[in-house]
Amino acid sequence: MTDQAITTRTIIGLEIHVQLRTATKMFCGCPLKFDAPPNTCVCPVCLGHPGALPVINRQALAYSMLTGLALSCDIARHTKWDRKSYYYPDMPKNYQISQYDLPLCEHGHFEISVEGDTRRIRIKRAHLEEDAGKNLHDVPGCTLVDLNRAGTPLLEIVTEPDLTSAEEAFVFCTELQRLVTYLGVSEGSMQKGHMRFEPNVNVAIDVGGTEYRTPIVEIKNLNSFKSVRGAIAFESQRQTAAWQEDHDYVLGKVPNENRGWNDDRGVTEFQRPKEAAHDYRYFPDPDLVPVDVTDEMLAGVTARLPELPIARRARFMSEFGLSPKDTEIIVGHRGTADLFENAVKCGAPVDILGKQFVNVWLKLANDRNVPVTDLSVDAERMARLASMVADGSVSATAANRIAEAMLDRRDPPDLLADELGLVQVQDTGAMEAWVSEAFAANEQAVRDALTNPKKAKASAGFLRGKVMRISGGKADPKLVGQLIEKRLSELRE
Ligand SMILES: [Zn+2]
Repeated sequence: MTDQAITTRTIIGLEIHVQLRTATKMFCGCPLKFDAPPNTCVCPVCLGHPGALPVINRQALAYSMLTGLALSCDIARHTKWDRKSYYYPDMPKNYQISQYDLPLCEHGHFEISVEGDTRRIRIKRAHLEEDAGKNLHDVPGCTLVDLNRAGTPLLEIVTEPDLTSAEEAFVFCTELQRLVTYLGVSEGSMQKGHMRFEPNVNVAIDVGGTEYRTPIVEIKNLNSFKSVRGAIAFESQRQTAAWQEDHDYVLGKVPNENRGWNDDRGVTEFQRPKEAAHDYRYFPDPDLVPVDVTDEMLAGVTARLPELPIARRARFMSEFGLSPKDTEIIVGHRGTADLFENAVKCGAPVDILGKQFVNVWLKLANDRNVPVTDLSVDAERMARLASMVADGSVSATAANRIAEAMLDRRDPPDLLADELGLVQVQDTGAMEAWVSEAFAANEQAVRDALTNPKKAKASAGFLRGKVMRISGGKADPKLVGQLIEKRLSELRE
């Protein structure tokens, strides 16, 4: 068997927990605060006191439906709540409220683009549940429990096993983060643990037409895109090697297992055999009424569905003629894309705005480590600056300096250009004088431009730079180029 050619195919399904951006918890009125002192955002409901009754957070339900619609899911018209029983110190009720057999969203799909290919990944389901608290291990010799997080609304999104590589899973997770932030249903902050990923991975090994499948491994609780990619790549290799070592390492003969990712060592480590659904003794929660999604509720949510990133990218390229790279940068965040689009609506010439937006505004924002929407430059002023370059009243270089000045002052860019002395001089008399000055000061370059064909072009460019410098950036570079050519041909005669 080992002499035959072996091909392997990695099979990956993802379970992703997304923390919803509601003001309060899933089943009680406690506020959701990231850095509140331990156990200060709690009440009898999320502490699991006997007799305390949960109440559904309608906003969490609406956010989940919106996400479901964006993932092309069917939204259930009747859904209910189930108790998932297990014991853990950070879960005082000893069960988690989740959705078992009637999830809110089912049978969807999500398209991603991987190295130029569009891949459609099926979404099996998306259901609502509550988060557990946190065990804190920073005091030696004991474990402390903080229940501020207990009861936080989570949307669990489960894909079919349609992903085939670590890279695809990485792209899927980053695109999903973009989607939920676009929809505004989650902050999607990795640092705050708003998204947690659990890939299920196994490998199909083909030996001369016979297929062997390794046992399924669930990698628990990954909290970064990088760890998703690293853990899947490692698992795929580890399972293939384990099968090569022992051909009985196959699904059905060896139990499925849970493993954890050790980021420092770059390996997954065995945790425990994988649980099956019956281990959790699911049953309907008697304290919560099922939810019937009415036509009005569904219509209300549908009306709030925005243009999704993938469609917006395609439109920005076709409508505005932006390059794929610039589109990627601009459409990456909804606020950024909105700002760009508003500047176009304010009359900005798209070709110049596109360049300025990426090379000037996004760069200035990046240097200051703030989103471009926080630069205190609105769409109207951006549009005006782009128009000034288009009509030749300032050069592209001068526009950079005006842009910087616009960050500190809310005046129109025209006024700033005037004050900074950057309004482009169209007066040919003044420009001819600058050309004469540059020619007099750079005789060698003039000689090269006239007599040395190899250096002619570079020398003319050099002279143009000199004229621009003498003018203090106020000369129109195109006009200067024409004047230099004219002067050179006069000298040739
Ligand atoms: Zn509470």
